Amino acid sequence: MNILFLIFFFIFGSIIGSFLNVVLFRYNTGRTVGGRSKCFSCKRTLGPIDLVPIFSFLAFRGKCRTCKSHISFQYPAVELITGLLFAGVYALNEPLIFLNTTLFMYNIAVALVVMALLVLITVYDFKHKIIPDAFAYTFAVVSFVAMFIQVSTSEVQQFYVAIPEMSQLFAGVILAFPFYFLWLVSRGQWMGLGDAKLALGIGWFLGLAKGGTAIIYGFWIGALLSVLIIICRPEISPFKRFPLVSLTTFAISLYKIDTIGYYWIAIFVSFYALYILTKSSYGKKLIDKGIIPNLSAKSEIPFAPFLVAGLLIVYFFGYNTFSILSII
Ligand SMILES: [Zn+2]
Repeated sequence: MNILFLIFFFIFGSIIGSFLNVVLFRYNTGRTVGGRSKCFSCKRTLGPIDLVPIFSFLAFRGKCRTCKSHISFQYPAVELITGLLFAGVYALNEPLIFLNTTLFMYNIAVALVVMALLVLITVYDFKHKIIPDAFAYTFAVVSFVAMFIQVSTSEVQQFYVAIPEMSQLFAGVILAFPFYFLWLVSRGQWMGLGDAKLALGIGWFLGLAKGGTAIIYGFWIGALLSVLIIICRPEISPFKRFPLVSLTTFAISLYKIDTIGYYWIAIFVSFYALYILTKSSYGKKLIDKGIIPNLSAKSEIPFAPFLVAGLLIVYFFGYNTFSILSII
């Protein structure tokens, strides 16, 4: 591992991260990403010393140098995470650096754009419980177009246009459809449409089998975190809707590990069973007591962070639960 390159990619990532913060704070507020950054409290225009990623926050202990008001923890967090993701992308692709330099550059370029978009999607969904179309569709389009561009592995490393395999070509739509279906039958209450748009990109970026794995991991991570929150902070009721759905998929996985179709049936059936229960008079009592979630209300849990976590695990560690052909 070339440590210098690794550090370079980390620093580059943290700089991009500080730009992503600007986008995240200004998106949908009518402000453009141009113009100098100012302190939110005293309106002082920030100088270069205030804008060094991660370092400035640590050096000035998270406070504005002039008015001492607290600066959002989002700044260093996004810079650090983007830096780590960029360094990770380099580490993952490093074996290609001398083997096929063109492919190395191309893989890195696509992956870095995707990582930046994933940071935007995750943080925005976490804060506002919605995935902006602009971010989700850009991720889908970048992943879709990248599938068609390949680099030859012969002596002459040139770009060429290739038609991807069928399973790859339709991966985005196949993985997005179940989310769309859940959104449609529940009129947006079980699942948001944003998750379907995000699944488009996941499918095209990772392919069908790995993309399916990423989504299932997303459900499992959601379940794990929800169970922890329910144990530690039982008063936060919205988290109750995930464990049941996710644990059903986990039970299915013990029985039959390699078919995506079973998972979607399990997810749908458990949502539907919970929904039928909430409609009964017994179910209404359970909702009042806070034992089961109210599925007639829109979810207050952002699901994108879980999906993105699943994607990152699959991308960086190459885990794959499904074989490509076993969709049904
Ligand atoms: Zn200030």
